[in-house]
Amino acid sequence: MKYDHILVRVGELALKGKNRSVFEKALASNINVVLKGYDIKVHRMFGRIMIELHDAREDEIIEKLKDVFGIHSFSLALKVENELEAIQKGALAALMDSRNQPVRTFKVTAKRPNKNFPIGSQSLNPLIGGYVLQNTEDITVNVHEPDVEIRVEVREQATYITCGNIPGAGGLPVGTGGKVMLMLSGGIDSPVAGYLTMKRGVKINAIHFHSPPYTNERAKEKVKELVRILTKYCGTIQLHLVPFTEMQTTIHEKVPGDYAMTIMRRMMMRISEKIANNQKQEALAITTGESLGQVASQTLHSMNAINEVTNLPIIRPLVTMDKLEVIEIAKKIGTYETSILPFEDCCTIFLPPNSKTRPRRELANKFEGNFDFASLVDKAVAETEVITIRNQPTKEEQSVDDLF
Ligand code: ATP
Ligand code: MG
Repeated sequence: MKYDHILVRVGELALKGKNRSVFEKALASNINVVLKGYDIKVHRMFGRIMIELHDAREDEIIEKLKDVFGIHSFSLALKVENELEAIQKGALAALMDSRNQPVRTFKVTAKRPNKNFPIGSQSLNPLIGGYVLQNTEDITVNVHEPDVEIRVEVREQATYITCGNIPGAGGLPVGTGGKVMLMLSGGIDSPVAGYLTMKRGVKINAIHFHSPPYTNERAKEKVKELVRILTKYCGTIQLHLVPFTEMQTTIHEKVPGDYAMTIMRRMMMRISEKIANNQKQEALAITTGESLGQVASQTLHSMNAINEVTNLPIIRPLVTMDKLEVIEIAKKIGTYETSILPFEDCCTIFLPPNSKTRPRRELANKFEGNFDFASLVDKAVAETEVITIRNQPTKEEQSVDDLF
């Protein structure tokens, strides 16, 4: 007998009623997406999600599940018939198959939601525990601090036995909380901001501004790779690649150097908002990787001047974090190594070193009067290339040009 299921416990128990079922459905569907290609079946059962395993790549499946938001914890489980002997044998097999080595002590915790089963949980515990003791050596019972807890749930159709808990990623299932446009540079911060936004159940579409030929193909590949890493947490992400060269050269020509950064960011916001408002997107906010005080463009004054141009909420998950805290998350989620590859970002190329740390809205507006930015914004939106990037690296990327 071997583990043949994974029992998934849903996070955020505060969610009740109708919402709960919506969340469970979304989670089941996200699990299906992330485990595509594996021989499994996902069922929703008694407020849990059960994954039926017909695939030997158990370890890979476990690794993938650790990244799915909305999972509080999960356990390998063994399904047996509702019959004492089968349960006893199952409990022993589960303990033997348990990865929580070395096991010196255990306890049994039985539950019997199926009241038609003739033995109550209090009687089941010693019956199962006794059987395990009879059939093992050097293992004893410890009800307070066991190495392994054998949990037995006698349900209507069958009994499920688990040993040990694997912590899940927490958060909420991606897709249950609407959608944002994530402004994704090639840097360390914005992928982390995207990850944290997804953690709260929000789907992301990435938007990246590039300035060919000043930024090269490799910089674009780097951003695609960052998106691909982020798909681990949600399955699929649309990447919007915005051509930004004309806007940048125009700003460079028409705007005083110390306001170029502020105005460039305002243009990015305007373009992001237009794409967010596109009927096919319906993104309700913009997420950035900004953190207070990090660089000239990220002072409170600067955020104030940049925010002026959009009515959409701007989500800044890193706003109060130190760089080291951000780096720690970037390493954990697997984006760091890619982020530090040294390819030029569009922002760094044209910008003079003397950006204003305290830009003013009136001056930004005044300098924007120096050129017809609205048509450049529209043009950039119209020429945006959209690529769908999927979790499965084997799949060909699908190019959906001219979406607008
Ligand atoms: P990151 O590490 O994310 O690049 P940063 O610390 O380098 O951030 P800035 O360059 O000031 O900071 O950028 C602030 C935010 O603006 C980024 O986190 C990102 O959300 C957005 N941004 C910057 N450049 C681009 C770009 N080329 N395309 C899309 N978004 C961008
Ligand atoms: Mg950057």
